Amino acid sequence: MRDADKTVPMGWHQKKAHEEVDHIFQELMPKHGLTVREEQLRLSHEMLDALWGNQIALCDAGVGIGKTYAYLVACIMKEKYAKQVGNLFRTENYPAVISTSSIALQEAILQEYIPFQSRLLMKEKLICRPLKAVVRKGKEHFVCDSRLNQRIASIQDKKKNGNQKKALLALRTCYDMDQVHGLSGFDRRLVCVPKFCPKNCTERETCRYRRYMKRVKSTGIHFQICNHNYLLADASHRTKGYNPLLSDYRALVIDEAHKLPEAAVQMCGKTLCSDDILEICYLLEKEHQGIRARHLKAEMKKLFQVIAENHSFENGQRIAFRQTEECISILKESAALLFEIGRRCKGSISKWIRNRLEEAGIVLCYFLVPGRKYVLYLEQDTERLPVFCATSREVPAYLQKVLWNQGIPAILTSGTLKAGNGFMRTRQMLGLNEKNRKKQSGVQ
Ligand code: SF4
Repeated sequence: MRDADKTVPMGWHQKKAHEEVDHIFQELMPKHGLTVREEQLRLSHEMLDALWGNQIALCDAGVGIGKTYAYLVACIMKEKYAKQVGNLFRTENYPAVISTSSIALQEAILQEYIPFQSRLLMKEKLICRPLKAVVRKGKEHFVCDSRLNQRIASIQDKKKNGNQKKALLALRTCYDMDQVHGLSGFDRRLVCVPKFCPKNCTERETCRYRRYMKRVKSTGIHFQICNHNYLLADASHRTKGYNPLLSDYRALVIDEAHKLPEAAVQMCGKTLCSDDILEICYLLEKEHQGIRARHLKAEMKKLFQVIAENHSFENGQRIAFRQTEECISILKESAALLFEIGRRCKGSISKWIRNRLEEAGIVLCYFLVPGRKYVLYLEQDTERLPVFCATSREVPAYLQKVLWNQGIPAILTSGTLKAGNGFMRTRQMLGLNEKNRKKQSGVQ
């Protein structure tokens, strides 16, 4: 017996949706070579109830239960039958969002699970058009054609690492930077799609990124697949009233949900590394501030050197910041320089670069005057230089504000949500308190 059977009076459409879930798992999937798993079927019904009842479901599902098909079927049936309930008002699809932590799972969902489910449901005439899914990720993963052309032109007569150059040139045919190996972090930052595209960009008509965006935002998409960071960035935009990143959605699945707090920590935190400074200097040079850029580069190089000399990193572990006299003194000088350049260049550089200078200075100030809001530590980048990291202590409240208070039904699933005393710890970490529309189940 499902929880919803006891509490929510089931309407005709909801009942039909549950019957179809039974039909899919007990008859159709075995017909196509998959075995019937009672736990999987039960889980899918519970997920469907949560979506239908606008609840947040915590579903602890161990390995081998088949939670991916369980939530895919629940989402498809919810969309199919809820649409019939509201068909007087609804004219378009609202693609569900599936958020995961690993690229491997995203690819498996996109290339295996959804195509299989689509073929099966089409063949059995349970849906009238194939299921469509797209992967959504941030601008920093895609190439800006205009920036790429500039970068390639700028290295024409310069010496450059062979592999890195090859990777850079490969971007002329592949605009997704995650698919190209050997690209340096610096090049990646320089050629990625900018936060704001200039209105007079000459590549606008042929821009591959713009074409990709048009495709993923088109109607007829059933699933948007993203990682937890992108989901949170979208949620944060919506809360602040900015343009959302994802298309509007009516159902949310958070797979590998135990990794959500970690992503939230990154989202709420701030970092500063040597590549950030190199990028700021590059941008300053482009705005004819070459002397200041060179001065900043030299001074910040000293900062990273002094911090590295005052700390002993082991095996890439994060370590606490040591407030030695030398560290404090160079932090003060570096922060002051960042603020000063921003002030002096006001009017001659873009607001975007001024913000970058200011943000960099603020991160250093956190280390000068530690407060209660952030946990401060150092990490090492790929060049073994220190990275300043400040992570927020307010993750549960943040998740509650940007995700759970938005009224969207959600399924959170993973094999490790339930521990000794039930879901208590998970609820605390995720900011799910008694007031949230929560429902929980553990399928072992
Ligand atoms: S439109 Fe934007 S992303 Fe496309 S080429 Fe121009 S600046 Fe780059």
